[in-house]
Formats: sequence, C-alpha cells, structure tokens
Amino acid sequence: MITIKKASKSFDDHGALNEIDLEISSGDSIGLAGASGSGKSTLLRCIQGLEVLDSGTISCAGRTGFMFQDFQLFPHMTVGENVMYAPKRRKTPLAHLEIKANELLHHLGIAQFKDRYPASLSGGQKQRVALARTLISNPDILLCDEPTSGLDIATTGDVISLLKSIQNRKTTIVIASHDLDFLAQITHRIILLKNGTIVSDIEPRKLSNPVEYLRKLYE
Ligand code: ADP
Ligand code: MG
Repeated sequence: MITIKKASKSFDDHGALNEIDLEISSGDSIGLAGASGSGKSTLLRCIQGLEVLDSGTISCAGRTGFMFQDFQLFPHMTVGENVMYAPKRRKTPLAHLEIKANELLHHLGIAQFKDRYPASLSGGQKQRVALARTLISNPDILLCDEPTSGLDIATTGDVISLLKSIQNRKTTIVIASHDLDFLAQITHRIILLKNGTIVSDIEPRKLSNPVEYLRKLYE
C-alpha cells in the first residue's frame, strides 16, 4: 500500500505537484500518465525518496525499487556486476547472490550478456539489465519511469511481457509514461496528471476506449 496525502513539491516558484491525494493498493499496477512536465517523474521520485516533499506525506508499506528512465547502468561494470552491485554493498553472501542474479538474468532473457559491458547492448537489452538490477533487491513496490521511451514497438512488446511476469509476482507496480496505449495494456488503473494535479483516475478495463477518453483530457 502506498498512501499519498496532500503531497506538494515546487521547483523555484513552479508547482510540480499540487496537493496530490492518492492511495495505491498492494499488488496493483498503476499508470501515471500526463504530458511532459505534468509531474509524473517528480511524483515517482518523491515516492522513492529521491526528492523531498515541500508539504504532505507519502508512506509506503514495503521496500521500493526504482527503474530510471535512462537506465543509469555503470559503464565500467559488466551486466553481472551491475546487477549484483547494490546487494553486494549490503553484504549479501556472494554465492547466494550469484544464484539469484543468474536466475533473474535467465528469466529476463539476458543470461548470455552477463560478462558484457552496457555500451555493447541495445536499448531493450539495457532496459532488461536495469530491471534485473532493480528486481534483485526483491522490491515490494516497483517504480518505473518511462520504461518504453526510446524503444521500438517490438521491444516495447517485450517490456510489456516482462512487466506482466512481474505482476504475477504480486509486486505493486507504478509506471510513469506518456504512452497511453502502453499504460492501457499493462495497468489496472491510470492516473492522469496535468500541471501537478490529478485530473482523472480510471480503470482502463472498464472503459471501451480508455486511450481515447484520456487523450481528450490531455489538452
Ligand atoms: P514529467 O515527468 O511528467 O515530464 P516532471 O516531474 O519531470 O514531469 O516535471 C514536472 C515539473 O517540474 C516540470 O515543470 C519540470 O520542469 C519541473 N522540474 C522537475 N524536476 C526539476 C528540477 N530538478 N529542477 C527544476 N525543475 C524541475
Ligand atoms: Mg518524466
């Protein structure tokens, strides 16, 4: 469960989030939609604690994991080293970690890249590495910022199947994306943000054309 109460955040004099109230149930998959600059990334970053609210509160039941829009993989580390970096620092036993990393890389279809460096991978492959790196810490809540940006249609399809396989693990997922079609396919609920305010909160499966419905509210 994520409970957000009257969350506000400004940069200089510009309100990025204005008194956001939102409850997200455990195990749910939520999309944060909205035009560029509407506050999607800021809300995700505040949930993760990467930004501090000016006022209001956010409480999360469980551990969060954050997947960055630009992956933020370490260029000087191999895929395997990238994936194992955070738990290694927390002194997780190495043998246990290797098994888990191999399992994840296999599940995400990137086992063959374990000893390669990020620069030699495509965008979709880097996306999988970023996902593996986040999932190895067993987050209860997965926060993804624009997971399909820069990916072609086929790779976006792969990301959809990957996220669906995580939904089966009962992880709560919050995805920020400007891509309504993608969100309508993958999430149970879509929150539309406009200038830092929630302007719509829908369950796409209950509407005949959720994308059309939200697109009209975009303007
Ligand atoms: P989105 O992810 O929906 O595109 P953001 O959350 O990135 O939107 O941004 C919301 C607003 O806050 C925008 O007007 C953006 O310019 C501003 N903003 C976000 N981060 C910063 C920052 N670190 N410094 C200054 N302004 C920022
Ligand atoms: Mg953003």
